[in-house]
Amino acid sequence: LIQLSMPLHFMGMIYREIKQALIDIDDMFQILHRNPEIADRPGAPPLAVGQGNVRFEDVRFAYNPDRPILRGVSFEVPAGRTVAIVGPSGAGKSTLSRLLFRFYEPRAGRILIDGQDIAGVEQGSLRAAIGMVPQDTVLFNDTIGYNIRYGRWDASPEEVREAARLAQIDRFVSGLPEGYDTPVGERGLKLSGGEKQRVAIARTILKGPPILVLDEATSALDSFTEREIQDALDRISRGRTTLVIAHRLSTVVNADEILVLDRGIITERGTHESLLAEGGTYAAMWNRQREADAAREILKRAEEEA
Ligand code: ADP
Ligand code: MG
Repeated sequence: LIQLSMPLHFMGMIYREIKQALIDIDDMFQILHRNPEIADRPGAPPLAVGQGNVRFEDVRFAYNPDRPILRGVSFEVPAGRTVAIVGPSGAGKSTLSRLLFRFYEPRAGRILIDGQDIAGVEQGSLRAAIGMVPQDTVLFNDTIGYNIRYGRWDASPEEVREAARLAQIDRFVSGLPEGYDTPVGERGLKLSGGEKQRVAIARTILKGPPILVLDEATSALDSFTEREIQDALDRISRGRTTLVIAHRLSTVVNADEILVLDRGIITERGTHESLLAEGGTYAAMWNRQREADAAREILKRAEEEA
């Protein structure tokens, strides 16, 4: 019983702490004093960021030793290019982004940025090089302006607005009585999922990192918001090394390479066209989504006419 109640108590503590502070996933491990398993080696040098080439080499990982999550994943995102990862829920897609951010370390294999194994570099420098738009953004219990400026503290108010404009959230924020000084969170403005995500995008634009990780979660958004967010994401990924975890396949069509991840291994890889021609899992996913989109469109029209 003690064994069982301890972690429950600990989880409750963490949960309350997170809820109270409305903390962003980037900072979750800071609140938990970072994942104690991930320690920098004494004298670990900072990451020397060049063009931002990202490489996974036979990466294996498990949260619990008896349940492998990644079973040997290898791929490369050439500097400035976009690689998309698709696959069923639970396949290990978000885990790849957590490993790149070094929230966890691979059990085997390596992750390299510009030839440097990220396990050997100082964590702060690694995270400074990567901009992450997570699946579910949780904002700080502070103003909208603060939440965007978090990307780069020395940004001017004009730069904050410009980032917000690119993320397509400026018009919304400017329309509020208190504008960028509007508090968000429990005692302030309640933002929708799409608005929160656009705040996270604005923050990432302001940060301007060489490497981007976009864990899209647009299933809960209406198609208009989704398109707006997609435009914003396209804009920030231009010229940056981008790893996009795509839930909507419409967002991966232009990726330089698409990887299908299933139960911890890459089962298909190629471009949109080559994967469609292959007629495998990706093609099936694509057709299914097309049908669902068509059905939604018909429903919408019927509603409009009624
Ligand atoms: P995806 O993003 O592809 O939906 P994830 O990478 O989030 O999948 O998760 C892969 C698997 O790892 C899932 O089965 C999930 O339940 C499990 N998992 C995720 N995070 C943890 C964790 N912190 N502890 C234990 N298992 C986890
Ligand atoms: Mg995920």
